[in-house]
Amino acid sequence: MNRLQVAIYSALPVSAQNLLCTVDGYRRSRHRFTPHFAATLSEWERTITDSAERHRARQWEQLRHLVERARRETRYYRFLPEPIETGDPSSSLERTLKEIPILEKSVYRARTMDFLARDVRSSEFVERSTSGTTGTALKLFDSWERFAENYAAVWRQRRAFGVSLEDPFLAFTGQVTTPLAQQKPPFWRIDRHSNRILFSIYHMSPANLESYIDPIHAHPATYAEGYPSALHIVSRAMIAADRCLPPGRLRAIFTSSESLLPHQRAAIETAFGAPVRDHYAATEHVVSMTACEANMLHVDMEFGIVEVETQEEDDDWVRGPLIVTGLGRPAAPMIRYRIGDVGTRSKHPCSCGRPGDVFHEIDGRIEDYIVTPDQRLVGRMDHVFKGRYDIAEAQIVQEAVDSLRVLVVPGDGWSAESEPALIRGLRARLGDDMRVEVQLSDRIPREPNGKLRAVKSTIHGARR
Ligand SMILES: [Zn+2]
Repeated sequence: MNRLQVAIYSALPVSAQNLLCTVDGYRRSRHRFTPHFAATLSEWERTITDSAERHRARQWEQLRHLVERARRETRYYRFLPEPIETGDPSSSLERTLKEIPILEKSVYRARTMDFLARDVRSSEFVERSTSGTTGTALKLFDSWERFAENYAAVWRQRRAFGVSLEDPFLAFTGQVTTPLAQQKPPFWRIDRHSNRILFSIYHMSPANLESYIDPIHAHPATYAEGYPSALHIVSRAMIAADRCLPPGRLRAIFTSSESLLPHQRAAIETAFGAPVRDHYAATEHVVSMTACEANMLHVDMEFGIVEVETQEEDDDWVRGPLIVTGLGRPAAPMIRYRIGDVGTRSKHPCSCGRPGDVFHEIDGRIEDYIVTPDQRLVGRMDHVFKGRYDIAEAQIVQEAVDSLRVLVVPGDGWSAESEPALIRGLRARLGDDMRVEVQLSDRIPREPNGKLRAVKSTIHGARR
């Protein structure tokens, strides 16, 4: 919505806003759940059990088409080497990828128009922009096909956990449906078309949170979706009020868009009485990973190829930056794209039995790493907060190479011991050379899109 639309929307009574949310729900369904979505979902529900070799063979076919098309239809990839067919799909895939240079975000940003394929009509894609929380925004060309395929991956996961497209649900995502200036409940709006209740993640102050609990209990939802940080705040309020949902009433909670931290998962599962299942994806629509019942992240092999640039490894896993290639027929092909996230891939098949590549976790964005004065990159700093029930929310901010600020929203058990214990935890990972300052606060500022970043470093900017 533009500013004028926001002003008009905000002036309407709640009933009219609910009606507009319902119209929006109808529009979203029409865009998402297209015939291509339905066909892809039914095909991928069959291919999910294919052997790893079968997946590899399909990826090879898709990569070959993608490379041939990119050479023919885009300016950027004109000089790309031809695919190398060795007779064996796995080695063809590997050798072809090896010949292709890694695509850096900065190159895509500088030459965006050269990626747009000539064989797509303007009606076949939509132009979008990333929110640019960590730098300049990227312009993206999203084909309707890839958009639908992303939702096919989402819905394959949800249906596997017994949720169907028509089910009512609770949503805790970044859309602004409750005007920001509103001071009194309801801090939610109703979309009758999609049977969802859209909770505002921008009004979650301690004083307002209690009002969220009644509608959560009253709605006939079978699942919930949203940002882990927002679900976590509501969960804490439900636990504090001793008003958790009865176990089993919801089938699952589907999280996405932010790193899911262990203490968030624990609180959400307690409050909502259902397992949390995560989805890792990117605005660029080049990668999708969905969590199984063992909470391992399976690469949706039909959607994209994920390589790991090895930084650390042992017999069981390999960790490093992810290099991703979106398959299918994108409007602007991105081949071997450095997405900016680090992940840990297992070297063993998952215990759930699903074949294909599987990750223990996505360790976070490269910008989420702390740089120490001796130039070490330290990731997963959020583990410092694991099991710390005296901390309601926290954010680590690094603005200089020799110092850190930790913003803390104190929880119920916060005491004189809490701050020294937190600093000890940080020092254990970072060493003694950094200045660490703890600042108590009553809330952590969100990014413009409503997301919470557990670690925020501004000192990577110079080289990105
Ligand atoms: Zn699994």
